[in-house]
Amino acid sequence: MTISSTSLPVSSPLYIRMHGNDNVAIVANDGGLPAATVFPCGLKLLEHVPQGHKLALQDIGEGAAITRYNVTIGYAVRSIPQGSWVEESLIRMPAARELVDLPIATVSAPKTEPLEGYTFMGYKNADGSVGTRNILAITTTVQCVSGVVEHAVKRIKEELLPKYPHVDDVVGLEHTYGCGVAIDAPNANIPIRTLRNISLNPNFGGQAMVVSLGCEKLQPTRLFPKGSIPIKKGDEGSGEPALVCLQDQVHVGFNSMIASIMNTAEKQLAELDKRRREPCPASELVVGVQCGGSDAFSGVTANPAVGYATDLLVRAGATVMFSEVTEVRDGIDQLTSRAANPEVAAAMIREMAWYDEYLKRGGVDRSANTTPGNKKGGLSNIVEKAMGSIVKSGSSTISGVLSPGDKLTKKGLIYAATPASDFVCGTLQLAAGMNLHVFTTGRGTPYGLAAVPVIKVATRNDLARRWNDLMDINAGKIASGEATIADVGWELFQMLLDVASGKETWAEHWKLHNALVLFNPAPIT
Ligand code: CA
Repeated sequence: MTISSTSLPVSSPLYIRMHGNDNVAIVANDGGLPAATVFPCGLKLLEHVPQGHKLALQDIGEGAAITRYNVTIGYAVRSIPQGSWVEESLIRMPAARELVDLPIATVSAPKTEPLEGYTFMGYKNADGSVGTRNILAITTTVQCVSGVVEHAVKRIKEELLPKYPHVDDVVGLEHTYGCGVAIDAPNANIPIRTLRNISLNPNFGGQAMVVSLGCEKLQPTRLFPKGSIPIKKGDEGSGEPALVCLQDQVHVGFNSMIASIMNTAEKQLAELDKRRREPCPASELVVGVQCGGSDAFSGVTANPAVGYATDLLVRAGATVMFSEVTEVRDGIDQLTSRAANPEVAAAMIREMAWYDEYLKRGGVDRSANTTPGNKKGGLSNIVEKAMGSIVKSGSSTISGVLSPGDKLTKKGLIYAATPASDFVCGTLQLAAGMNLHVFTTGRGTPYGLAAVPVIKVATRNDLARRWNDLMDINAGKIASGEATIADVGWELFQMLLDVASGKETWAEHWKLHNALVLFNPAPIT
């Protein structure tokens, strides 16, 4: 990456070129730069270029490739003189690469030493996983019970939680699934296993509790078949969830339902309250990374810093998941080449092909991903967005692939195939077993989850300044030359250990929680 003037004051005209072969670069200055601006290298702007948008570093002929990240992000629809604003309408997007003849496991990760001695204070679970928070989760089998559960959770928080000071929170796992759905459709296993695996997230301490209506399609025994809940050592626990069914004969009146939920919750709280934080190696961290509200700086500052932290985590033996199919689809060759072995590469290709087909059924392709905000922030199309998104995965070898809703079975860098939608991706990473979440944003989003702490990383100084009580880390200082990618990567790594040990994030401070959104590719009825 070349920053055109690192030694000059931040107010000097500044562009950022990601690779020596690129014929475009982005304007770094807050507010953009006016026509006739002259850069220290002598290049003169022919017109105003907004912040994060691309300028032509040389004359680009009609039909010629427009190159950023050393990748063709499109072709010029007409000739573009040096110094022009290379805006979206001047770029014709290339077709997606076919999923054939891909390089398979050809690239080995840079040789690095293991990182040893880093620890955090976590909650050890009977199944070997480690929680970063101690939360009572109340799972629901169907949307019908949501209002009742919401009412009960409010009362549990007010009346019971203060009696159990070692429990952090109570969360109702509400969703729109459970009835009115084609539950035997082949793809219905995705929302069902997602909900099951979320209920077993490490932050819930293995205390599964379910509120059911009674007549719904997703019966509790279907959500938790025998053996799906690990039986604790030395515990008479049956391996079945604690269940409250609203249609049971015992319930006479609304308050009797609330009383049943509260009685059951109190037993669960008493168990959870016995837990204490203990020193755990950094290898027990399970970090899900994603981005949302991206801009052209996402791929320059925040995502590369996350990629640096990803490599540190992998060196420490931890697990990192990256996801968002449409945001890696155009870099599939980079991913298959970094696969640990041909099986991992084949799994990656299988997930991409499944998603291509899923989008095709809906009459769109990966280009449906970009938002008006992405474009306003300088990202012209999904190819450019993907190149900036994929760098969150760092440079480590990819050791495994997960299908949507599946639970992790190995450590290291994992590709967890999910939609890029922030809420759906976060929900699926929760199901996989994440105990910490890293979220980068350029446009700004107040995203948060109730079940795991979310560390938000701003891509620009301006966003970090305006949203100073919403953003946990400012990666914008990389663009202004005040910090390196490595500096911010280490800052994030240290913050992950602190937050895992109990330090509050801004989203936790304000209690900002987005809803769970189950990915249901199957029909509803
Ligand atoms: Ca996202």
